[in-house]
Amino acid sequence: MGHDLLPPAPLVLAGAPLPMVGPARIYACGVTPYDVTHLGHASTFVWVDALVRTLRHANLQPIVTRNITDVDDVLTEAARRAGSPYDEFAAIHQYDFDHDMRELGVRRPEHEPRAHQHIGSVVRLAQALLDRGAAYEVDGTVYFRGGGAVAASGLSEAEVSAALAEFGEDLDDGAKESPVDVPVWRASHGGDPAWPSPWGQGRPGWHAECTAMVLDTYGSSLDIHAGGADLAFPHHAYEAAQAEAATGVAPFARSWMRVGTVRIGGEKMAKSTGNLVLVADLLKEHRGAAIRMMILDRRWWEAWDYEPSQLDAAEGRLDALHAAAGRRDDDPAAEAEVMRRLLDDVDVPGATAVALESGGRAARVLVHVLGMS
Ligand SMILES: [Zn+2]
Repeated sequence: MGHDLLPPAPLVLAGAPLPMVGPARIYACGVTPYDVTHLGHASTFVWVDALVRTLRHANLQPIVTRNITDVDDVLTEAARRAGSPYDEFAAIHQYDFDHDMRELGVRRPEHEPRAHQHIGSVVRLAQALLDRGAAYEVDGTVYFRGGGAVAASGLSEAEVSAALAEFGEDLDDGAKESPVDVPVWRASHGGDPAWPSPWGQGRPGWHAECTAMVLDTYGSSLDIHAGGADLAFPHHAYEAAQAEAATGVAPFARSWMRVGTVRIGGEKMAKSTGNLVLVADLLKEHRGAAIRMMILDRRWWEAWDYEPSQLDAAEGRLDALHAAAGRRDDDPAAEAEVMRRLLDDVDVPGATAVALESGGRAARVLVHVLGMS
């Protein structure tokens, strides 16, 4: 596409310059495969995909890791209700997720680690945290001291407690020295998945799974850590704090891309409330590229409310972009401006305005880079 002729544009992410030398190491918190894909999940992965395609087009060598959280109490419980082994249950739902991502044009990541393949790394992480005094063991469970992560979050005590409780942390666990400590390794009982460890049979804690998968894939740090905005605390905060405490390398992530929450009627989309829009349902009546357009035609950090009329509007906008791409105009300055906007915090609305105005090659580059053909 002639991108080697473009003047280099600086990469800005999350409002700050992110100079890149060498490959861009990206990690996106993936799904817990126990249910169908909803628009909230899709939004995160479409945004990561748009960033990755932009970096690739600018020769910034992205490497993407998107994990699969296939060891998780929510999944174990859902599998138990369905009468399936947890790993088989996860594999079936992973298949549906992959199908939805393919229909949305989300490229397969270079690395797709599954939590159950990184148990040994979680054990080593727990041991490193114990060795450094950042964790302690009680009855086969290894707890990470959460005071630092909480202080760094800037949240109030009430906000911290609410967020921890929302994600299933037991604040009343009497074995903990502090309610904000979280398990890196958890003793397993009854039908829980279990692996051997120096502290007995157990399984990884959720945050520790991602910490271990990042460290296993990239070493002690990475360039861009992505995920839904609702994961900022506790998940990302504890993931980073555990990594930095274990390795001594900070920052764990040079930049964070926390994609804005998708709501319906002002409420977060969530399985627990039944407040869901399924990607598979949208795909019955709309092109995957139109769904991408609806998701991307805004700034990535903004929370938004989904309404069906937005999808019709996105269909129209996609048609207009395709019509502009079919024009003969060829303005190198407009083409460079499209890439400059995309590298400026993935400014899709800005790049689209330029592409629609200029048409021709600028529009074709945008359609290509955003995967909206
Ligand atoms: Zn994660």
